[in-house]
Amino acid sequence: MKGVKNICCIGAGYVGGPTMAVIALKCPHIKVNIVDINEERIAAWNGDDLDQLPIYEPGLKEIVAETRDRNLFFTTDIEKGIEEADLIFISVNTPTKTYGKGKGQAADLKYIELCARKIAEVAKEDKIVIEKSTLPVRTAEALKSILENTGNGVNFEILSNPEFLAEGTAVEDLLSPDRVLIGGDNTETGQAAKNALTEVYANWVPKERILQTNVWSSELSKLTANAFLAQRISSINAMSALCEVTEADVDEVAKAIGMDSRIGAKFLKSSVGFGGSCFQKDILNLVYIAKSFGLQEVADYWEQVIILNDYQKRRFADKIIKESYNTVNGKNIAFFGWAFKKDTNDTRESAAIYVADYLLDEQADIIVYDPKVSKEQIYADLEYLNTHSSEEIRARVKVVSSPYEAVEKAHAIAVLTEWDEFINYDWSKIYDAMLKPANVFDGRNILRKEELSEIGFKVFNIGK
Ligand code: ADP
Repeated sequence: MKGVKNICCIGAGYVGGPTMAVIALKCPHIKVNIVDINEERIAAWNGDDLDQLPIYEPGLKEIVAETRDRNLFFTTDIEKGIEEADLIFISVNTPTKTYGKGKGQAADLKYIELCARKIAEVAKEDKIVIEKSTLPVRTAEALKSILENTGNGVNFEILSNPEFLAEGTAVEDLLSPDRVLIGGDNTETGQAAKNALTEVYANWVPKERILQTNVWSSELSKLTANAFLAQRISSINAMSALCEVTEADVDEVAKAIGMDSRIGAKFLKSSVGFGGSCFQKDILNLVYIAKSFGLQEVADYWEQVIILNDYQKRRFADKIIKESYNTVNGKNIAFFGWAFKKDTNDTRESAAIYVADYLLDEQADIIVYDPKVSKEQIYADLEYLNTHSSEEIRARVKVVSSPYEAVEKAHAIAVLTEWDEFINYDWSKIYDAMLKPANVFDGRNILRKEELSEIGFKVFNIGK
């Protein structure tokens, strides 16, 4: 197979955007087109103000500045992008189904299917199609079937190249990945396709870190990796509840077990619960797949990771209510943070959404400050739950652009995201602005408790 000269990526989101920007940076000889149906999003990627790119990731705007209009292009011309490309990445969203069979668990593949049909319709030469979205196992098979049955006689090779980047460190993860996984058929053409993609990554990733497998192993590895990571968080969060009723300190426990080299220190931070678009979705997929093969025990085992996570969010909201003399009705609760973690503006499945929802059930007034998340996103996240009317949400939830504004006459502060800036605020000024007793619920265990207690705050932590 000839060397890759042109890449098209369908979907200019959290995965497609940063991944293609890094490929363009490291492969100046390859032209990379990112295409998307969302005109507004494409316009934002092409905008003059690099601080207004649709996705915030540390280091991303610098790469876009260097590569955009050099060999990285953002466009809505999907057909041209497909036609020109040797390699097509599919990087569209695969949300959990909200209807029909598999509702609440299975991934909705309608966007993937639309892409496949578009590729089949437009392609006039052989193409390598790569699934990049977070996907359930067997998507490659579905893709193959659509492409083969509606194509115009051209040969498609389907590869699975799952994304292991973490939001907030996407650029760093892409620049020096622990491994790159490429799954494909072991036929001659399949092998050639795997090699072609390997050559692209080999421009900056050491060859020993590029792993070739069969499609199934590659797809299942992605789900397995996320299930293991989420399981670590649920495991330490389970211990946090036990720490709170004994005199143990979850950070001390985490440090102690993390020093065991068999366990390792990463992903042991207890918190209000994990969020993000991948963990919950991937585990639900795993559960759905296990069930559909009749493996009920396997499904139950992994489902418990989600159940524990829901429990942790509920527990945090309950704590706020209990410590507010058992009622938050009409009280001002300031939220510090809305994103599912720091250094991203992504809010999908963020713990903040669910904690806010529980507090709205109790008729609290919520004032949100997040350094990167927009007001409309916050309202959209709450409206999506469909548990409170849009009017009620807009009446009870206020979004402000400064932390000091958020705490004005607040009864309590809840820290929902671990943004670094929260630590170094003028906490005396915050104390003065609040109603007393001034309670702080540190859902991320990031604040300096002693300092805050000296000022007069009552600080509640997770697992202490
Ligand atoms: P992810 O986190 O997987 O990157 P995002 O939701 O951030 O997910 O991005 C997915 C992108 O894919 C969105 O910008 C959406 O507009 C785009 N998209 C969805 N379906 C199609 C399609 N059929 N053709 C082109 N782009 C699509």
